[in-house]
Amino acid sequence: MASSSSLSRYQSKRDFNKTAEPSGDTTVAPSERRRFVIQKHAASRLHYDFRLELDGVFKSWAVTRGPSLDPKEKRLAVEVEDHPLAYGDFEGTIPEGQYGGGTVMIWDRGYWTPEGDESPEEALKKGTLKFRLDGEKLHGSWVLVRMKRDRSGGKRTNWLLIKHRDEFARENDGDAILREDRSVASGRTMDQIAAGKGSRPKPFMLKSKKAAPPDAVWNSNRTETASPRASNATIKVRAKKNSSVKATDPANAIVNGITITNPDKALWPDAGDGRPVTKLDLAHYYEAVGPWMLRHLKGRPCSIIRAPDGIDGEHFFQRHAMAGTSNLFTLTKVAGDEKPYLQIDRVEALAAVAQVACLELHPWNCQPGNPEVPGRLVFDLDPAPDVDFAAVIDAAREVRERLEALGLISFCKTTGGKGIHVVTPLSASKKDQVSWKDAKAFAHDLCMQMVADSPNRYLATMAKKARGGLIYLDYLRNDRMATAVAPLSPRARAGAPVSMPLQWTQLRSTLDPKQFTIRTAPALIAKSTAWQDYCDTERPLAPAIKRVTKRSSKANAA
Ligand code: ATP
Ligand code: MN
Repeated sequence: MASSSSLSRYQSKRDFNKTAEPSGDTTVAPSERRRFVIQKHAASRLHYDFRLELDGVFKSWAVTRGPSLDPKEKRLAVEVEDHPLAYGDFEGTIPEGQYGGGTVMIWDRGYWTPEGDESPEEALKKGTLKFRLDGEKLHGSWVLVRMKRDRSGGKRTNWLLIKHRDEFARENDGDAILREDRSVASGRTMDQIAAGKGSRPKPFMLKSKKAAPPDAVWNSNRTETASPRASNATIKVRAKKNSSVKATDPANAIVNGITITNPDKALWPDAGDGRPVTKLDLAHYYEAVGPWMLRHLKGRPCSIIRAPDGIDGEHFFQRHAMAGTSNLFTLTKVAGDEKPYLQIDRVEALAAVAQVACLELHPWNCQPGNPEVPGRLVFDLDPAPDVDFAAVIDAAREVRERLEALGLISFCKTTGGKGIHVVTPLSASKKDQVSWKDAKAFAHDLCMQMVADSPNRYLATMAKKARGGLIYLDYLRNDRMATAVAPLSPRARAGAPVSMPLQWTQLRSTLDPKQFTIRTAPALIAKSTAWQDYCDTERPLAPAIKRVTKRSSKANAA
C-alpha cells in the first residue's frame, strides 16, 4: 500500500480544487501484475512521464526527449515524485497556472516485470533497474541507470533510460515511435485532448484468465526464456483490446478522466424540477459527492444496479465484473466464490460507474477489507404503504434510543424511498470482532423486543411484511452477503431521489424525504455535518450482545 508520506510531495504540489488529477487520498489496490504508464505531457516543456508501479505507487521519471527504441540513444530521465496509482488512468488538461499545467495523454501503458535476481526495490537503490515492458507501443528489455550526481550539487537525480538490444530494438529509426501520437486509452491526439473532445474509452482490460500468472512471467524472465505460452497469451489479450476501439465521437464528455459516452441520455425523465437527469448529470453527481460516499464504499464488495435505458427500462443487478469492466473498479475475492466481486475504492471509479449507467450502489456492511467481520449494523425500517413518514421517524428514534441504552451510537438516513435506515458503526479492533451470526442475532433480538413492546406498530416477520398499518423492522441486512443502499446513492426511482444522511435533529415530523434528489443533495451535503463523527463512534458489539440477551431471557421468563 502506498504510505501517505510517499505521496506527500505529489500532494503538496497540487491544488485538487483546481486540477482534475487524482488526489491519491483513496487507495488503489495494486494490480496482480505491475503496471506501467507513459504520459505525454505538454507542460511548459513537452516531455514524457515514465511511471512504474512499485509498492503501491508509481515511481516516476520525466523523460525529456521521450523513450527511444535505439539502444545507442540514452535518454535523460529525471527522477520526480511518486504518483498515486489512480494517476495511471489520468488523461486530460491540468489548468494553466497549476503545477504541470498543460495537456496529458496516456501515450502508452501495460505491464512491466523486473529482470534479474534482485528485487526491484534493491535494484533501484543500487541505481540499475533492468526490466521488460509489455505495453501497446513499447516492448522488450530496457534499463534505467542512475547517473553520478554532478559536482554543482544539483538537487535533481538523473537517470538514463536505455533500450536493450532485442527483437524490439530499432536502430537509427529517427524516433518513429514518438510519432505514434494517439492516446492508447482514448485514441485522441494531443489537440483533441486539449480541446476537451471525448471519444470512446478503451479501458484497461481485465486480466485474461489465459494470460500467464504473474509468477510464471517473473520466473520465465529470470531464466531469460519470457516462455512461448506467456507471449501467446499476451498477444491474445492485446488483439481483444484492439477490437474494442471505436471511432472517436466528439459528442462525448470527460469526467474525472473518464469518457462518458451518450452524455445527454436521460436516465431519469424528471428530477422533480421538470428536467431529466442525464448520464453526464449522474457523472457530475458522483464527482461532487464521491469523496463523501467513498468512506462508506471503500474496501467493501458492492453490488450495483444498472439501467442503461434509464429507470423505465430494464434494470440489471450486478455483483461481479463483466466483460470490459473498467480497471478503475477493484475486483475483490471473497471466500466461497470463484468470481471476484466489484468494489469501489476511488472517485475515478465512480465516473466509471456513471459511464455504465449504474444508478444504485449497494455495499456490504463488513469492515473494510474484511468481508468476514461485521463493520456496521443496519436497521431497515419498511413502512406499509398506509403508514405516515412521521411514524417511521418515531420508529427510527426508538431504534436509536435502544441502541444507545446498549452502548451503541447510530446514524440515520433516508432510503430514497419511504423508509429510513439506522446505521451503527462497529469497532474494527481485533479483540472486538464478532461473527456475522452473532451480529444478526443481536439485530433480531433488538427488533423482537420492539415488536413485543409495540405489536400494534411493528412487526419483524418477513412473511407478514405487507401488513397494513405496521412498520416492518428488517434486521436481515445484518448478514455477511446482505447489502443496504449506500448513503448518497441515487435510487432508480421516479424523481431521482437519493439516500440522504441526516442529523437526528433534521428528522422532524414534517420532513419530506422526496426533497433529497440528485439535484439537491450535493449542495446540502456540502454544508451538512451529518455523519461527520461516524468514524469516532465505532463501538464494540460484544458488550451490547450480552446486555440484549439478558433482557431477552428476562422477557422470556416473565
Ligand atoms: P425503501 O425505503 O424503499 O425500503 P430500501 O433501500 O430500504 O428502500 P428495501 O427493499 O427495504 O429497500 O431493501 C433494503 C436493502 O436490501 C436495499 O437497500 C438493498 O441493498 C437490499 N436489497 C433489497 N432487495 C434486494 C434484492 N432483491 N437483492 C439484493 N439486495 C436487495
Ligand atoms: Mn427498506
